[in-house]
Amino acid sequence: MRIVFLGAPGSGKGTQAQRLMAQHGTVQLSTGDLLREAVAAGTPLGLRAKAAMDAGELVSDDIVLGMIRDRLRRDDAAPGFVLDGFPRNLAQARALEVMLAEIGCPLDTAVLIDVDLDNLQKRLTGRRTCSVTGKLLNIHFSPQADLDACLKAGGQLIQRVDDNEETIGNRLKVYRAQTEPVVQYYRQAGLLHEVDGEGAVDEVYARVTATLRS
Ligand code: AMP
Repeated sequence: MRIVFLGAPGSGKGTQAQRLMAQHGTVQLSTGDLLREAVAAGTPLGLRAKAAMDAGELVSDDIVLGMIRDRLRRDDAAPGFVLDGFPRNLAQARALEVMLAEIGCPLDTAVLIDVDLDNLQKRLTGRRTCSVTGKLLNIHFSPQADLDACLKAGGQLIQRVDDNEETIGNRLKVYRAQTEPVVQYYRQAGLLHEVDGEGAVDEVYARVTATLRS
């Protein structure tokens, strides 16, 4: 299946996409992860993207679209994929439609993971990634056993540089102004499914998979 996950920063898109990949092998294409890798590797693309990312602004469309175009051409994306964090604005949504039409593989569905924007601050400030497994965790919400497992494996709980209060505020503003119109775009196209993103990760995952089966 070719799926887009939509939702505000901290809505759980990445966590749900990771789980779908672990259980069904559907490859997760996260523009945020690809950009962070480019920044960490110090590539020219990463250097161009870094300032916008640190400020919680969107990276320019030409960078992101080039990256996605390359990624979609790789063999592992051929059977299907979950796009996580892309498209983030209408221009990207339209460009994606054209790209997929060119390869004759249109999108099957767009899933909006719906979370009350007021709850997102806590989700984002508590978010951590295990340095060993790459698993997304939250110091406020994850089971203690999962947090301990990372530390026992010799890992560290890493906080993203853009998960600080000031940048979070800006990312939520950018989501409202630029990404919410994308939700409407997929609604009008008849592709949108909304899933309640509140509650435990397992509960949300059960809703996501039920939606994908429907
Ligand atoms: P994320 O991990 O999806 O929250 O993305 C982290 C940051 O990467 C965002 O705040 C943006 O600066 C940048 N970014 C990720 N995806 C996109 C995209 N599709 N378009 C523009 N910027 C993006």
